[in-house]
Amino acid sequence: MQYYSLNNNSPKVSFQDAVIKGLAPDKGLYFPESITPIKKSFIENIESYSNNEIAHELIQQFVGNEIPEKDLKAIIEDVLQFDFPLVPIENDIYSLELFHGPTMAFKDVGARFMARCLSYFNKENPNQVTVLVATSGDTGGAVASGFLGVKGVNVVILYPSGKVSDVQEKQLTTLGQNIEALEVDGVFDDCQAMVKKAFLDTSITDKMQLTSANSINIARWLPQMFYFAFAYKQLKKQRSLSGVEVKKLVFSVPSGNYGNICAGMMAQKLGLPIELFIASTNANKVVPSYLETGNYNPKPSVATISNAMDVGNPSNFVRIEKLHDNDFEKLKSNLQSYSFTDEETRESMLQLFNEYNYIADPHGAIGYLGIKEHQTKNDNTQYVFLETAHPVKFLPVMDEKITSKIEIPEQIKSVLDKKKVATSINTYEELKFFLMK
Ligand SMILES: *Cc1c(COP(=O)(O)O)cnc(C)c1O
Repeated sequence: MQYYSLNNNSPKVSFQDAVIKGLAPDKGLYFPESITPIKKSFIENIESYSNNEIAHELIQQFVGNEIPEKDLKAIIEDVLQFDFPLVPIENDIYSLELFHGPTMAFKDVGARFMARCLSYFNKENPNQVTVLVATSGDTGGAVASGFLGVKGVNVVILYPSGKVSDVQEKQLTTLGQNIEALEVDGVFDDCQAMVKKAFLDTSITDKMQLTSANSINIARWLPQMFYFAFAYKQLKKQRSLSGVEVKKLVFSVPSGNYGNICAGMMAQKLGLPIELFIASTNANKVVPSYLETGNYNPKPSVATISNAMDVGNPSNFVRIEKLHDNDFEKLKSNLQSYSFTDEETRESMLQLFNEYNYIADPHGAIGYLGIKEHQTKNDNTQYVFLETAHPVKFLPVMDEKITSKIEIPEQIKSVLDKKKVATSINTYEELKFFLMK
C-alpha cells in the first residue's frame, strides 16, 4: 500500500516509510492511496471470528505485503492481549471499555502496534530509530509501555513538570531500559514546541532518525479501527442471544486529536454498518463550532477536567475531511459534535454512578452526554460510547462518593511503588544536547 501526503507536496511512500517518518516532508499527514471494503459475508458473520481474525481482516490491506501474513498475525496477537468489553448501561446504551490494557488508556493498542511494526522493520535496519514524543498525560505512558524493550528503538518522552497526575508520571518515568523521560519546566505546549523544533532541526535529523508516536502516525491511528468492529461483534452476539435485531448503530467518541473517531470512520468505509458518529468533547470546541457555523477556527487549548481532550487544533481533522471528500454537507450527515462543560461532566459521572452504578472517567462521561444530547425516543438506534481511560487515572477530579468505590488495579499499584527517574530540562538546547549525547 502506498501513502500520500494530504498536503500533496511530497512523494508517495510505502507503509514502512510512512511509519518510520510519521509525518510527510511537506508536514502533511499520510493517507492511504486506496480503501477497499472488506467482504460483506465477513461482516455479516463477524460474531464467528476471533478478535485477532477481525483485526487482521481490517488492517491487512493497509500493511500490504510489507509484513508477511504470518508475522502480521503474530504482531496482532501480541498487541491484543486484553479484553474490550461492551457493558450495557441502560436501554440501548452501551459502554465500550478500552482501558483494560497495561496503562489503562485506549492508546495502548495503537502504541503497541506501532512499536511492533517499527521493531519488525528495524530487523534489517542497522540504525536506531528515536521516538520523540510530548505528552500531556496518557500518550506518554502508553508509548513508554508499548515500546519497552523493543530492539532498535529508543524512546524520549517530554512531559510538563507538575502538570501530569502521579499515576501518569510514574507510568512514564519508572520503566528504564530504552525509555527516557524528560521533565520540562513548562506546560504541555512548551514540550510540544520543543519536539516540533527538533523534527525540523537538520543538525539533529542528519545524525539520527526521529519519529513521532502520536496519532498522526498511521501505525498508531489505524489499529483503532478494531474497537468499532469489536463493539459491533459483541452487539450482534448479545442481540442474537436475546432474539432482537441489531438496530441502527451510533458511536459517541470522546475526541481530542480526533484520531480515534477518524479510525471509526475508516472502519465504516470498510463496510461496518455505522449510522452516525458523535464527536463528544469538552470546552475545546473547534469541531462542534465548525459543524454549526461552517468556519474552522483553531484556538489555543483551554484546561479542563477531561484533559486528554484539551486540544485546540485537532491534527486528524484533515483526515476526517478527506474521508468525506472535503464535502461539508456530506460530513454533517455523518458527524455530529457536542461540547460540554466541566460541571456537566461532573454531573454526568454522578448520574452514571447513582442511576446505573457505573463508574465512568471524565472522558467516558462526556461520551455518554453526547448520546443523551442526540437520543430521541423510539429512534430505533443503539448507542455505544467509548470509555477511553480507567477512572483511577482521574481520581483528583472525581467526586469522593465515587472514588471511594474504586479499587486500584494491579497495573497501577505496581508502578506507584517504583522510583521515578527523569532528567530535568528547561530549554531546547538542553533537549538537543540530550538527544545528541
Ligand atoms: C487521547 C485520549 C482521548 C482523545 O482521543 P483522540 O484520538 O485524540 O481524539 C480521549 N480520552 C482519553 C482518555 C485519551 O487518552
